[in-house]
Amino acid sequence: MSEGQDLNIERRGVMLVLSSPSGAGKSTIARNLLEEFSDLEISVSVTTREKRGSEIDGKHYHFITKKEFVRMQESDALLESAEVHSNFYATPRDPAENAMREGRDMLFDIDWQGGQQLMEKAAADVVSIFILPPSMIELKSRLIRRAEDSEEVIAKRLENAKEEISHWGDYDYVVINENLDEAFHQVKSILVAERLRRDRRHGLYDFAQTLIG
Ligand code: ADP
Ligand code: 5GP
Repeated sequence: MSEGQDLNIERRGVMLVLSSPSGAGKSTIARNLLEEFSDLEISVSVTTREKRGSEIDGKHYHFITKKEFVRMQESDALLESAEVHSNFYATPRDPAENAMREGRDMLFDIDWQGGQQLMEKAAADVVSIFILPPSMIELKSRLIRRAEDSEEVIAKRLENAKEEISHWGDYDYVVINENLDEAFHQVKSILVAERLRRDRRHGLYDFAQTLIG
């Protein structure tokens, strides 16, 4: 049984939304969470962006054409969608809605526009965390160190970082990722606590009744 789960009392799943400017460390924190919480699933987005060398289609993203993206949008198959750094990204609807209904927790690595749409559509299920870098200089050096993007792409991501950061105030929690272990511990604590919130644990009523008799 993983942390924050007790006696398998029935509850709604948590939609854990992580947003940050590119390079602040959200994918690293997400990866660590998925390793530690075997019952946490990641929402695999669709994107029209080109696949990076290290990425696997179907695992990191579903890489699709612009035409397929529009088709999915028109058939209402997307829970939210946004244009980010000149590419299109979206969350497929069915896996997320099924997970919530079945009490499974899902992680969403999405930008502020997607975060805002999920907060509106699924306010009761969403727990949102904004990850900030300790400084803009450190943000730039992380993007360079990651060595996944061209100089031009890094410049564009840094330019967009200020716009992304300006939305920190819309989120339930804000974590500053200076020290990775510490930031990870803070994100983990948020998930553990949110799993225990009374209002998502409908099974508590019956459980408490068995205690009272
Ligand atoms: P994002 O998903 O937000 O774009 P990543 O998780 O890819 O960012 O992190 C960007 C780079 O910074 C990666 O090389 C990662 O290993 C590194 N990184 C993440 N957190 C820290 C940290 N606290 N201190 C130093 N480097 C970090
Ligand atoms: P990257 O190209 O680095 O993988 O992601 C760029 C940005 O797009 C990141 O901020 C990431 O969180 C965001 N993103 C990834 N998937 C989605 C999605 O499905 N919806 C939205 N709105 N943003 C996404």
